[in-house]
Amino acid sequence: MSINEMELDEENEVKPKNFHELELDDRLLKAIAKLGWIEPTLIQEKAIPLILEGKDILIRARTGSGKTAAFAIPLIQKILVNKRTQKKQQIKGLIVAPSKELCKQIYDVVMFLTIKCYREVRVIDISPQTDLNAQKPLLNEMPDIIVVTPGRLLQHLKAGNVMLKHSLETLIIDEADLLFSFGYENEIKAVLTYLPTAYQAILASATLSEDVKDLKKLILHNPAILKLEEPPLAPPTQLAHYTLAAEETDKAAILYALLKLHLIRGKTIIFVNTVDRCYKLKLFLEQFGIPTCILNSELPATSRCRAVSQFNSGTYDIIIASDEKALEEPHVIKTKKDKRRKDKESGVARGIDFQFVSNVINFDFPLDINSYIHRAGRTARGKNQGTALSFVAIRERPMMEKVEEQLKCTYNCESLFKTYLFKLEEVEGFRYRAKDGWKAVTRIAVREARLKEIRQEVINCEKLKSYFEDNPRDLQSLRQDKALHTVKLQPHLKDVPEYIVPPTLKGIMGIGKRKRKFDRDAASSGATAVKSRHQARASNPLISLQISTKK
Ligand code: AMP
Repeated sequence: MSINEMELDEENEVKPKNFHELELDDRLLKAIAKLGWIEPTLIQEKAIPLILEGKDILIRARTGSGKTAAFAIPLIQKILVNKRTQKKQQIKGLIVAPSKELCKQIYDVVMFLTIKCYREVRVIDISPQTDLNAQKPLLNEMPDIIVVTPGRLLQHLKAGNVMLKHSLETLIIDEADLLFSFGYENEIKAVLTYLPTAYQAILASATLSEDVKDLKKLILHNPAILKLEEPPLAPPTQLAHYTLAAEETDKAAILYALLKLHLIRGKTIIFVNTVDRCYKLKLFLEQFGIPTCILNSELPATSRCRAVSQFNSGTYDIIIASDEKALEEPHVIKTKKDKRRKDKESGVARGIDFQFVSNVINFDFPLDINSYIHRAGRTARGKNQGTALSFVAIRERPMMEKVEEQLKCTYNCESLFKTYLFKLEEVEGFRYRAKDGWKAVTRIAVREARLKEIRQEVINCEKLKSYFEDNPRDLQSLRQDKALHTVKLQPHLKDVPEYIVPPTLKGIMGIGKRKRKFDRDAASSGATAVKSRHQARASNPLISLQISTKK
């Protein structure tokens, strides 16, 4: 048995192929073009032909490498090709992932990729924990592809709601190492007994733990192994790192000015170091008509998932996240006996992908190097460009220097951080407004905002639905709180009066003639995001202008 092990290394690549060279169906190529993907990522370039050849493969790569499409594209292609000769509608592809959130993410990718052939290739995600019987009719329709968690799949298999023995052609197991840390070992083994004796198997995993090696032996036959040894971050040509010296009192004013003057374009994640700061910043920006959503480790998994999907779908252009370390696998599940394992289908942050992020802003500088890498790594994914801009107060400088030292070694370069030139005195008007706005967000306002969020979660909670049906007055009392504004909004603050715009920017922005539109855009940036995300990706997502570049 020969094992074909390939180390993928971008530097050794001569010239990347384009998608057309992979001989894909036109409908797939059109969908890929619609997504704005110009060329395959390294893992896609290697994996797609091998999967199309029918080989079993093990993909060792993390989220961000484009691995979802690496297995989804050939799966769809194979189904389209088979449909030319086989007319019988059957379940051909099974994608198993460890959490509902990941299933939803995979399902979304498959949906995007089948946008031009949705009648021919149908996909369903049956990971949501609704009534098993409610999902049965969906399975009876014999979708071509099912995306599901192992636990849920086993329930359906045992209930006889789905039969795979005579139809399944491709099994894909994603984030295999997480499946084991989530204690899914038995379910996976049980699921295998319901599958045909021969099928093509693809295993994707970030690491090759002993468990994954066992699974590899169990399901892969003579596999090709694709190892993507990734650098921790995209190269500086793809991911630009900026710093901006700003003391605590000025950070809010600078952020407000950068956003309102559209010096930051495209989708943005703003990182802070604590949960309270998340709410403080949200309430601060809210006063200026800048809508944001929030992500922090204290939110239940479903809310975090919703925040990410609202950001990804373009409902919000800006997400404020508290320290990334807290977001990493917040419901850590270590052993099978671990008492903390409550809902193993949920709560995995790893693998969850923020899409089309043009900028990461460290409003608070991260507390260690790993945190910097995690945060900055949320942009410049796949082949996209990105910017990481860090606000650095004097007390944060030592950590910034440490990060730079380490990353310089990694990148083997002379310097990493470019200085973002910004003259605060030119945005005095913003500073003045920001000072009041920041002060208005008192500790009580922050506390109330957090309480409001919890109430909202209670209302949203699926499990409480029936309780509220029986007790509508309780729901009413919770709803009344919804109107609570924890900081008084002053409508005039949403506009940017001409006199506060720095003279250096007035000409460039055509202020006067285009000012009204400029303000309107800022106020409705959420609504325009869906359209703008592709534009933002297509155009240079870097911070577009710098104030006072003229000396
Ligand atoms: P994944 O590793 O599958 O989670 O994908 C990471 C990100 O890369 C996702 O946001 C994809 O939309 C994006 N992506 C995947 N393939 C490509 C590609 N060929 N070109 C540009 N972006 C891509």
